[in-house]
Amino acid sequence: MFKLSDPRLLHQYAYIDGKWTYGDEGREAPVDDPATGETLGHIPWLEDAQIRAAVDSAERAFVHWRALRADERCERLLAWFDQLQENREDLAVIMTREQGKSLADSRGEVQYGASFIRWFAEQGKRIIGDTIPSPIPNATLGTIKEPVGISVLITPWNFPLAMITRKAGAAMAAGCPVIVKPAGETPFTALALAELAERAGIPAGVFNVVLGDSARISEILCAEERVKALSFTGSTRVGKLLLKQCANTVKRVSLELGGNAPFIVGPDMDPREAAFAAVNAKFQTSGQDCLAADRIIVHESIHDEFVAQFAERMAALRVGNGMDSETELGPLINERAVEKASQIVDDAISKGATLVAGDQSKAPGPNFFMPVLLSGVTRDMQVWHEETFAPVAGVVSYRDDDEAIELANDTEYGLASYIYTHDIRRIWKLMRGIEYGMVAVNSVKMTGAPVPFGGIKQSGLGREGGIPGIEEYLDTKYYCLGGL
Ligand code: NAD
Repeated sequence: MFKLSDPRLLHQYAYIDGKWTYGDEGREAPVDDPATGETLGHIPWLEDAQIRAAVDSAERAFVHWRALRADERCERLLAWFDQLQENREDLAVIMTREQGKSLADSRGEVQYGASFIRWFAEQGKRIIGDTIPSPIPNATLGTIKEPVGISVLITPWNFPLAMITRKAGAAMAAGCPVIVKPAGETPFTALALAELAERAGIPAGVFNVVLGDSARISEILCAEERVKALSFTGSTRVGKLLLKQCANTVKRVSLELGGNAPFIVGPDMDPREAAFAAVNAKFQTSGQDCLAADRIIVHESIHDEFVAQFAERMAALRVGNGMDSETELGPLINERAVEKASQIVDDAISKGATLVAGDQSKAPGPNFFMPVLLSGVTRDMQVWHEETFAPVAGVVSYRDDDEAIELANDTEYGLASYIYTHDIRRIWKLMRGIEYGMVAVNSVKMTGAPVPFGGIKQSGLGREGGIPGIEEYLDTKYYCLGGL
């Protein structure tokens, strides 16, 4: 394992019912540092009975957790938030070691992830039902909001902390116990969150972390009648599978899936300003971000200058081990991701794209992929229609706004989108014309705890964050009090 100022944050056990739990059969899996290949530690491979024990524990905890007053739950969650603040540097180091992202990005993620706990802690005190004017004589009508019940949270490796807190903060504030299944690549962040939940006085069974065979775990948990909600962030492929698995028990399902974000640049823009923004929107977390600006759609009148400026800014990005303070872009998560990125670039070049910049001979290690800029991208290329999840940017040019809208919508995804123009009529036309759950205009940053984050089309179901985020974990009970 590696050094932290508080080594007790590093666990190589699952966390069930407030206990650190090893696999019954002693099976385990390694967790590697993607920058160096070093094995950081091991995680247990839980057996079926242990997964079911997590449900038993959540079932017991639900009785007490839902019975607490909202302000009592708020206090516990705020204590958890404080724990994250106190241990933020260690959390950032854990994330950089297991995920690879730069320390600056990890520090940012700790703050971003913690903000969901605080926001939902407070929002839990504002879960308010309705009174309804009655069409029924002598009756009083209304609604009560109740926690949906045990919630399973399955999260990806690209944001190991925030994808958990965005779900768990909302679920726990609503009164639901959670069973977290983090990605096998980044379990240590999830386990550190469990340690901090325990220190914050979150009762046993309210926050559980299970580890092992993802497919088997989801099969068991999706078949469980007692699990009432599933929230998943990850690929569209796995999301569809889980949706099917949840059909038999008709669970509440919330899905945050893949994206293929367009970044539209209007003819009125300064090409340098737009190119710098596009570089920021594309290369966060080395392009392994569902918000990454994958398809950069630039007006033909400024296309060439935009490409030149983009290449210049991209060349200045520092690629390296996330633990080095200079690093801006860390490694990709594994060699498979590097192979996929190379294959996407080769496919584009073989179909006529121009490789403007990106020299892989400079990669500092086997899991690294130097940023690539492709121009002349066409719709038959993988880089156009697939989520690359790598630092590969593709640029196309367009003639008028209708063509920009048509290009932007030419995808099965509908998560995030970006528009850069100062022309108010064009902003409105593009914003209304493109089919996305989120639109950022003249801004790269668009997320935050109060924001309803989510997609349409095959990018998902439901919203996380903001007021809709907590609704995902609440049932509405309607009552009609007659004979009054
Ligand atoms: P993934 O779908 O492979 O894995 C996500 C989670 O599902 C992990 O915990 C993994 O262990 C688990 N999993 C994998 N196979 C499974 C199976 N057969 N049954 C049950 N669980 C299984 O995705 P990933 O590679 O970890 O993450 C990248 C994807 O996540 C990208 O498509 C990205 O766009 C998406 N993502 C979306 C958002 C969002 O908010 N919309 C945020 C981050 C990432």
